[in-house]
Amino acid sequence: MISNRCKNIKPSAIREIFNMANETSINLGIGEPDFDTPKHIIEAAKKALDEGKTHYTPNNGIPELREAICEKLKNDNNLDVNQNNVVVTCGASEALMLSIMALVNKGDEVLVPNPGFVSYFSLTELCEGEIKSINLDEEFNIDVDELNEKIGNKTKCIILNSPSNPTGRVLDKGDIKAICEIAEDNNIVIISDEIYEKIIYDKKHYSPMQFTDNCILINGFSKSYAMTGWRIGYLTVGESLNEKYNLIENMIKIHQYGFACATSFAQYGALAALKGSQKCVEDMVKEFKRRRDLIVDGLKKLFKVYKPEGAFYVFPDVSEYGDGVEVAKKLIENGILCVPGIAFGENGKNYVRFSYATKYEDIEKAIQIMEEIFEG
Ligand code: PLP
Repeated sequence: MISNRCKNIKPSAIREIFNMANETSINLGIGEPDFDTPKHIIEAAKKALDEGKTHYTPNNGIPELREAICEKLKNDNNLDVNQNNVVVTCGASEALMLSIMALVNKGDEVLVPNPGFVSYFSLTELCEGEIKSINLDEEFNIDVDELNEKIGNKTKCIILNSPSNPTGRVLDKGDIKAICEIAEDNNIVIISDEIYEKIIYDKKHYSPMQFTDNCILINGFSKSYAMTGWRIGYLTVGESLNEKYNLIENMIKIHQYGFACATSFAQYGALAALKGSQKCVEDMVKEFKRRRDLIVDGLKKLFKVYKPEGAFYVFPDVSEYGDGVEVAKKLIENGILCVPGIAFGENGKNYVRFSYATKYEDIEKAIQIMEEIFEG
């Protein structure tokens, strides 16, 4: 009965961990801010509901929001984007799905960072594409020469994700530029997932779209504005790439039949998020940085840790105590939820992902428990 396409997809290990949470466990497994959505965003959505803005919106989103997204792209990323080249989606998840569905035919190759976000693998498989892993070095950098060598005549796209889930790595400007050149030379599209753009500590964010038009830029509101359940994100396509292939029009076709539009009142919330949230975002990022420093200092005593520069994850190599599944199991048995690194691809097998989107005091407790388990 069930299609092979569906049968081959594994359920997300992250969801499984989420379901294991109980009141007593310390949840270092979850990938969403533990803050409430800022009040002014909630008020804007409530006002939209009160004003009867409950109908279908244009497929690609309300013009006010698309205009505000263009302003954001200009101010933050120095990009000149026309609002007709923006599609408002049901989260970055949908934007990723549209991108891969619009580009990948059976047998086409997709270069995916490994370890990398779970959806990149599953969406490629759903579209019957072939995954080619981009292996990362010990500090989770991309070896640009190796990436270049992996490109063949079936390579359709490269997925980049900076800051990264699960590693917290922020790509260097030089590496991004080099990958953009490779994409141009080989007529390959970079799908750039920038959902953690604003959750960044010691480095500056660069979008590949600043260096090449061969790019689909994906972003959203879930992480930066604590809006995960609102399901709202967006994408834009490099101007000349779009002119050549009509990508936006083709993605809107899929969006139209699959989703019709992003939730109407969530779009008004997103508009408010873009208009006046600087202080809320700064406060949230400051708190994440404080927690990052705490968890990295604690984990360093037990495992090999690369200090993350963005997102709210840390991805230590735990191989001294077993593989990632064994260590994660032990932690979960002791009341600390985390995700075995294998969930993010084969190269993650010796790692465990901890999220520090959890209260400071709980991270302190978790470190104490880990010291007891592993230092005996
Ligand atoms: N991309 C990455 C790297 C993520 O970590 C996530 C969520 O965890 C998403 C995309 C999905 O974001 P959204 O909630 O906007 O669909």
